[in-house]
Amino acid sequence: MSVNAIRQFEIPSESDPSKEYRVMYDGERWYCDCMSWRFNYEHKGQKDDQGRAVPRTCKHTRLAEVQLRAKGERAGKVIQPIGPWFEELQEYTKTLVEISRNGKVTAEKVFAFRRDIERFQEKKSEVADALLTADTLLDLSLALVKQLSVGV
Ligand SMILES: [Zn+2]
Repeated sequence: MSVNAIRQFEIPSESDPSKEYRVMYDGERWYCDCMSWRFNYEHKGQKDDQGRAVPRTCKHTRLAEVQLRAKGERAGKVIQPIGPWFEELQEYTKTLVEISRNGKVTAEKVFAFRRDIERFQEKKSEVADALLTADTLLDLSLALVKQLSVGV
């Protein structure tokens, strides 16, 4: 399994300049954490000529697309995967987007999806714990260097 690296863009909200939306591009699909993308407001019920829902977009994905076209490799930032589970999660989200274009799943499938997500959340928590520990180690190291620097 291999997925493309995610290119991430921070697109400011038009209505609230203190807010930013996170737009992601995996080389094929665009994702955004705004409500419009989540609920597919712009394309609800819209089908392509094969009868599938048209790919999700929102004004933020379109703005990011303009940036990508203008700046190429310098647009946004590339997010490096932090473990095999991260790439698995990317693949997983991509699959859910595709399934959501095709329509219905069974109740059992929904249950299984929720279990998968819990498993990913556990993996994420482990990384979050490690980052907190890194913060503490950095704090302690800084304090020690400060003490060592007295009288140098
Ligand atoms: Zn959006």
